[in-house]
Amino acid sequence: MSTRSGKEGLNGVASRERPAEVRDDLIACPDCGRLHRVRLPPPGRRAECTRCGAVLFRRGKGGLQHALPVAIAGAFLLLLVALNPLMAVHIQGNDRAGLVTTGIETLADQGMWPLSLLVGLLVLAAPFARVVAIISVLLRLHDGRPTKRRRETARLFAWAETLRPWAMLDVFLLGLLVGYSRLKGFANAEVLVGGVALGGYVLAHTAMDVAMDRRAVWQAIDHAPVSGAPPPRRWVACTVCQRIHGGDHGPVPERCTRCHSRLHPREPDSLGRTTALVSAGAILYIPANLLPVMTVVNFGQGAPSTILSGVHELAEAGLWPLALLVFVASVAVPVLKLAGLGWFLLAAWRGSAARLQARTRLYRIIDAIGRWSNIDVFMIAILAALVQFGAVASVRADPGAIAFAGVVVLTMLASHIFDPRVMWDRAAAADTEAGADEAEAPRHV
Ligand SMILES: [Zn+2]
Ligand SMILES: [Zn+2]
Repeated sequence: MSTRSGKEGLNGVASRERPAEVRDDLIACPDCGRLHRVRLPPPGRRAECTRCGAVLFRRGKGGLQHALPVAIAGAFLLLLVALNPLMAVHIQGNDRAGLVTTGIETLADQGMWPLSLLVGLLVLAAPFARVVAIISVLLRLHDGRPTKRRRETARLFAWAETLRPWAMLDVFLLGLLVGYSRLKGFANAEVLVGGVALGGYVLAHTAMDVAMDRRAVWQAIDHAPVSGAPPPRRWVACTVCQRIHGGDHGPVPERCTRCHSRLHPREPDSLGRTTALVSAGAILYIPANLLPVMTVVNFGQGAPSTILSGVHELAEAGLWPLALLVFVASVAVPVLKLAGLGWFLLAAWRGSAARLQARTRLYRIIDAIGRWSNIDVFMIAILAALVQFGAVASVRADPGAIAFAGVVVLTMLASHIFDPRVMWDRAAAADTEAGADEAEAPRHV
């Protein structure tokens, strides 16, 4: 734990609005809501919820600054990705190379502007914004002294955390791999500088996420003095920075005193909003699978293909691992998400306590893997960018792709808005045995 004194922790802008009770020595489970007393695990280990097994936080191996060099390397590689062609295709003496932006432009030219906008946001805007935000936060905390612009730094980091699942260059890399394999069937394709840089960026970005100790970053931005007092009876946890705001001696503030995110005991109207999003996703799932997602024309031959016929083509070409990957990502995962969320909603509405732990674990899996369904969307953007050889060969994105991307975005939003703590609340309300929350130490793994 940091050696900064409590007085220092109370300095700065936040102190005026800080309520009587801000408890950074307590941490609430994001998935079941159980309160724990923070006990730091050994470096490199994580602290888990004793009730549902959720990761409360991970402790980084090095100091705060370990993530900075990899973050800077990642930003440099990201520039290389954006400015260089990813891949080139040669067909019948014709060459064409494509950048990330070529895919975005081609989709817009083909009238697929919702898809073009989505790819631009997920593949360029979000990764750039996130890496710039993280580098500026880490630079501000560089010398180990508390930053003067605490509120601004906290907002930047909160923003970077929110963007995390939406920065999708790792998924894009798999899309590139699938696109490359499909091209091999009828053209010569080679990976260029941008494609290699993309691989490097994904490695650097993963290393940065592993090295970055999120709790340490939040604590360095602002931390409250350690209190030996018993946990408050009424409290609200910030879902972005995890700070606990006690409500025993006054009202809980509207916004978090550290990261300024809105504070709610539970995600407002989580069940109603998730139900709406899941229903919309389930309806869109039908055209997403029935309508063609793209048309590949090769020497005048070719027909529109759906998600499933794309999987079939990969399998026929003998690319079994890729066929399986695309099947899981594009067909199985969306069904798992819709069915899983449907089950959680039903159980929560009924206040059921059956299989609560299994449901919470499945929720975590669904929330983590949902973004990987975008592989097909990115593969279409890449192929449409590269294969534009007029009568010889061309690839066009079709309306099914918009419906499919819609399913992915809607189900991602649904699992984000669904608050698993509501399942625990409702089960506890139905079964009074659950009792009051005693703060206990987390499990270290
Ligand atoms: Zn838990
Ligand atoms: Zn916060």
